[in-house]
Amino acid sequence: MGYLESKEHREFRELIAQFVAKEMRPYHEEWERDEGYPRELLKKLGDLGVLGLRVGPEYGGSGLDYWYTVILCEELVRSYSVGVSVSILAHAEFSIKVIDDVGSDEQRREYLVPALRGETVWGLGLTEPDFGSNVGGITTTAKRVGDDFVINGAKTFISNGSIGDYIMLAVRTGEAGPKGISLVIFPADTKGYSAKKLDKMAVRSSDTGMLYFDDCRIPAKNLVGKEGYGFGYIMDHFQGERLVLSCFGNGVMEELLKIAVDYGTSREIFGKPILSHQVWKHRLADCYATMVASKQLTYHACDVLNTKGDANRELSAAKLFSSENVKKIANEVLQLHGGYGAMNEYVVTKLYRDVSAFTIGAGTSEIMREIISRTMVE
Ligand SMILES: Cc1cc2nc3c(=O)[nH]c(=O)nc-3n(C[C@H](O)[C@H](O)[C@H](O)COP(=O)(O)OP(=O)(O)OC[C@H]3O[C@@H](n4cnc5c(N)ncnc54)[C@H](O)[C@@H]3O)c2cc1C
Repeated sequence: MGYLESKEHREFRELIAQFVAKEMRPYHEEWERDEGYPRELLKKLGDLGVLGLRVGPEYGGSGLDYWYTVILCEELVRSYSVGVSVSILAHAEFSIKVIDDVGSDEQRREYLVPALRGETVWGLGLTEPDFGSNVGGITTTAKRVGDDFVINGAKTFISNGSIGDYIMLAVRTGEAGPKGISLVIFPADTKGYSAKKLDKMAVRSSDTGMLYFDDCRIPAKNLVGKEGYGFGYIMDHFQGERLVLSCFGNGVMEELLKIAVDYGTSREIFGKPILSHQVWKHRLADCYATMVASKQLTYHACDVLNTKGDANRELSAAKLFSSENVKKIANEVLQLHGGYGAMNEYVVTKLYRDVSAFTIGAGTSEIMREIISRTMVE
């Protein structure tokens, strides 16, 4: 049996597809215009049980594997609201999963349970104005003072950053370099904290924030896992992020091809539909082959992740291939639309803008190539 063909997988896909058709796609233009979406949506996803797919049932999760993350991500972007999909997974995958993996029981009960219900919103704070790809260099400090950490510094480009109730924050608690990094749970109502929403070209329906920490005191018990182990946790959890981005890319490719076929068969040029011209049929055939290859590469990476727990090279390859190629396909489908492709009212225009961020977020294409090549020569 091929990937994702079990009855359970099909039923889960149908569940998400119905949710997306009813609760998301009808609102995609509104959310794009408003640069955000109602928090109620996260609660509805919590009720559906999809915010903690791999978390154990004892904390309100579903106890499933990464295949369900694949399905969720592929289906969410069919809403055309890539930004909202990013926001949902920034919460459910990038930020809170680490609590389940290395947090204390108390942290799981206090933070994970409401987060899985969609009652709180989380972001992941790694990137700083001077350190993005080089996560090991971050300079936001957390100094131990009595029973507290005092935090100073800044973060940028943080998804859910200005709307989040909590940030899973990477801080420097020790020496320079990766070994001095820890993760802490940072409540957004902490004195001395402020956040500003950033104005961006891509994924506009998601919030992206610049965060400032000025002598912010949080309890030392908000440390997640062990002090000085943060970099390792971050690298581990990048696997889930890269799977998410790969699946978003693949789902968008599929939608772009549907849009291309619809437009290309209805718009006539020189007396016949665009897709009656062989050059366009061939260009779309190339896009189709790329899309299938990208999905299979992602499924292979997911299979390795599920079975071995470590698929760093495979996921880097999948993320590289998917994010680079969804940009190429968006470019093709935009070109097919002629002048209409330059008009904001067309979905293809929005998707073209949205996917421009895919080769950046969760590690850039250059970093993916670094990881792949390193594992090849080691
Ligand atoms: C929409 C969006 C959402 C985001 N959400 C989050 C989030 O929720 N949390 C978070 O922490 N961050 C988030 N980010 C930040 C993202 O992870 C960083 O932008 C990314 O890691 C790159 O860092 P940078 O922007 O500082 O670029 P830089 O690291 O300054 O890189 C600049 C360029 O140099 C290249 N480069 C870097 N290193 C090398 C090298 N060794 N060899 C060759 N080329 C190299 C890069 O690939 C890039 O092309 C988000 C970004 C975007 C756009």
